[in-house]
Amino acid sequence: MNWITRIKSAAERIKTVVRKRASKSEISASKYISCHGVPVEKKVIKENNYVCPECNFHHFINPTQRFTMMFGESNWKKINAPLVKDPDPYDWVDTKKYKDRLKEAKKITGQDSAILSCEAKLNDIDVVASAVNFKWIGGSISMDESENVLAAIKTAIEKKCPYIFVSASGGMRMMTNMLSLVQMTRMTVGINELKKNNLPYIVIIASPSTGGLQASIASTGDICIGEKGATMAFAGKRIVQATENTELPDDFQTVEWQMKKGQVDMVLDRKNITPTIGTLLSILLKKHKSENIEENNSLIKDPVLETKEAS
Ligand SMILES: [Zn+2]
Repeated sequence: MNWITRIKSAAERIKTVVRKRASKSEISASKYISCHGVPVEKKVIKENNYVCPECNFHHFINPTQRFTMMFGESNWKKINAPLVKDPDPYDWVDTKKYKDRLKEAKKITGQDSAILSCEAKLNDIDVVASAVNFKWIGGSISMDESENVLAAIKTAIEKKCPYIFVSASGGMRMMTNMLSLVQMTRMTVGINELKKNNLPYIVIIASPSTGGLQASIASTGDICIGEKGATMAFAGKRIVQATENTELPDDFQTVEWQMKKGQVDMVLDRKNITPTIGTLLSILLKKHKSENIEENNSLIKDPVLETKEAS
């Protein structure tokens, strides 16, 4: 046996012991999801607000699942936001055509853009909410997403109700370049209109919440709630580490770490977010001054009673 045949036979042996990786379609068709190193039934995760009951890992949820969890199956109504005529003015091509990426994102998510907005009721209070779908090109933000946020803010101002924003984004969309970056300002101006009307603005940081969205409207909430374990950052940890040339703590850029630095007001398990927002809104709007405020009082200290302009 020469060295070539020895290598060939070793490769054959490796093939038999290394299990073939499951494809994306096989994973989505499976009844199980991998968590804390073992398979966990998807049904069990779903029944627990998409949180692992064993290790408390908060799994991905899309805006439809988020709104259904927060407001109930049929208690929210989608806001139909306008779409721009030409979402690809630069005719962008990288490894794929941007136009094809848009078609694919629409097909995967069933959404017109990365943001879905709705009107709903929470704790019997009218609210408007928007949530980002990270599966839409990494939850990146361009013109259609900004239009969606502005349509939601307009609805909140017309209805004189609070606005809730659930952030989960990789940042602004490079395929639309400067036209994407200016949306940070447009959306912030929109939030300021909300604040001029003295309407509460609550931000939920879901994972990962990074880049330009975090550097604009996801940082301007009157109250900022971090979903347990979520990443909240501008630049990534490795970039910061290389720039600063220093060791960073293990919990760097988690919402728990951001709370210690004053960027987040509270970190909550997913199941506690909706009842806490209900209580916060009751206090901010001076409604239902009753038992449920007492119930969750331990979670809320020094509530903000007036809104501040975003910077
Ligand atoms: Zn787990």
